[in-house]
Amino acid sequence: MNKKSILLLGSIALDTIKTKYGTRKELLGGSATYAAIASSPFVKVNLVGIIGNDFPVEGEKILEESCNSTKDLVIEEGETFRWGGEYHENGDDRDTLFTNLGVFENFSPKVSSVNSNPDFIFLANIHPELQLSILKQCQKKATVITDSMNLWIDIARDSLLDVLEQTDILLINRSEVYDLTNNRNMDQSISQILEMGPKTIIVKYGSNGSKLYNHNGVSYSIGVINVPKVIDPTGAGDSYGGGLVSGLAEGLTIKDAMLRGTVMASLCIENFGTESIYSANHNIINERIKILSNS
Ligand code: AMP
Repeated sequence: MNKKSILLLGSIALDTIKTKYGTRKELLGGSATYAAIASSPFVKVNLVGIIGNDFPVEGEKILEESCNSTKDLVIEEGETFRWGGEYHENGDDRDTLFTNLGVFENFSPKVSSVNSNPDFIFLANIHPELQLSILKQCQKKATVITDSMNLWIDIARDSLLDVLEQTDILLINRSEVYDLTNNRNMDQSISQILEMGPKTIIVKYGSNGSKLYNHNGVSYSIGVINVPKVIDPTGAGDSYGGGLVSGLAEGLTIKDAMLRGTVMASLCIENFGTESIYSANHNIINERIKILSNS
């Protein structure tokens, strides 16, 4: 298989997470971390990001092992980005307990020339100004996949709209769709977002699966793998994105890439942090893809 290159930008974090199954402090986390690890059984990404000099050696080893290149991973004097979240009893909704930007505060990503002509760019959740900076530094042939969050829709809308103009595939969840359009009718909202730039939109519905819409009027849904216990939902969306982009880079159809994304998300939520996706192997992934395709 002729694998293509993926440039990935996103956050690298130390997460503190509270779910009904317990609390874990300073776990390896961040949107780029989940996406890189979820992509790595198939295609290893070229990572752009920043960590502080307090980042654990073990975490650094995991990133290096999971990526093709960490040349554009900056290690700066100061504290790594930290995020804390607590999940509600329903396991889906969560409150952010704290966000400590640390070295993120003055981060200005640099793409080295060897990484600047990727086939795919995955802009995982991070400030849209940083996403724009990556697009400016790369040559134009790449397929651009973008993820974001409500926070940026609220406080950096104009920059996010600039990113969307240059986006091929947008990954978004239901509440973000409504926030972006101020319209609670899903079909109308999707039409509005398609006019903002993305040719394809994949709406993530959490435990209700995901649905693709494209500018040719095609739409279809993918279900989920039911896991017995959702221990920690953090990073499910990022793992979906990592699985999806790895599939696209291997030349899978977008539907098959969505199946892979769904499977990586199902593995992610079965344990705290990145533990389950990091230990996932091809056998378990393929087995789940088979179950999902036949469901
Ligand atoms: P998800 O559960 O898919 O929303 O992703 C959770 C990850 O996003 C966690 O590992 C956090 O470290 C990271 N995260 C939380 N807030 C932000 C933020 N403002 N910018 C970038 N990453 C964030």
